[in-house]
Amino acid sequence: MSQDDALIIVKVEKENDDTTSIYFTGPDMERFKNRKPGQYAAIRIYKDGGWSAPHPFTLSSSPSEETLRMTIKKSGEFTSSIPDIEPGTPIQCSGPYGQFCKDIATSKEIVMIAGGVGITPFLSVLRHFRETVADNQVTLFWANKTPDDAFAAKELEEFTRHLKLSVVHVFSRVAPADQTEAPEFTDNRPGKISHEYGRLNQAMFLRHITSVNASFYLCGPPAMQQTVLEELSLYGVEPGKVDKEAFVFSPKTK
Ligand SMILES: Cc1cc2nc3c(=O)[nH]c(=O)nc-3n(C[C@H](O)[C@H](O)[C@H](O)COP(=O)(O)OP(=O)(O)OC[C@H]3O[C@@H](n4cnc5c(N)ncnc54)[C@H](O)[C@@H]3O)c2cc1C
Repeated sequence: MSQDDALIIVKVEKENDDTTSIYFTGPDMERFKNRKPGQYAAIRIYKDGGWSAPHPFTLSSSPSEETLRMTIKKSGEFTSSIPDIEPGTPIQCSGPYGQFCKDIATSKEIVMIAGGVGITPFLSVLRHFRETVADNQVTLFWANKTPDDAFAAKELEEFTRHLKLSVVHVFSRVAPADQTEAPEFTDNRPGKISHEYGRLNQAMFLRHITSVNASFYLCGPPAMQQTVLEELSLYGVEPGKVDKEAFVFSPKTK
């Protein structure tokens, strides 16, 4: 593909020190029109006279948005170059791919569990729910080290005013002296915000989930997924009943 046929990055937005969103658009957007929230695509970026190797990232925008968006955390060489990209840079994008969250809108009661940047498929789903005024009951657990890592916290808080969404922020590295209560809201929002400290565990599930029969979705690093599945099992949810996405991308496949 030549640079002329490529899509173009139109905006680069820093989410926090480690995470950046890129927005891109251009010709041949038709194939993204019917994508499902939670799907991913593979991108190559034009740099120094050549195309990068392909890398997969979730499309974090809602399917109805004309501009595609990916939210990317620094991990290795390619992802660390993302914050320095200039708008106007050509980008190739193949996809959309994937089945994660495929039928999520049909579930009345949903539990989403995200570790770090594993929030991206759920952001896509919740942006879609916000636009469609969905009335699904959603509990989102988002595990991060500190509040600074929870880059989408404000947007999620906004969603709780309009959706039946409860957000449980789980912070693993906050000193006891800095552990605060979640704010109490006086407006008539259907959802709410809670804070938990430590690693996600069975006790947290007991405090925030009302039914083991909800539909469970999990996205995060493999080690986090393993412990979450063990804790869910203690709570009464079998690992096979959890829809999972791991952001595992082998450097060998580049
Ligand atoms: C379906 C899917 C969806 C994804 N969605 C997102 C998303 O929305 N946002 C996001 O930020 N990421 C996402 N990812 C992950 C993303 O694709 C990778 O983080 C990215 O491709 C890594 O590229 P890199 O060159 O920066 O890092 P790499 O160089 O590939 O390094 C990645 C990690 O592997 C380690 N590593 C590198 N080489 C080796 C080696 N030889 N041996 C052992 N370890 C090594 C590095 O230290 C680093 O920790 C997704 C992945 C998949 C599969």
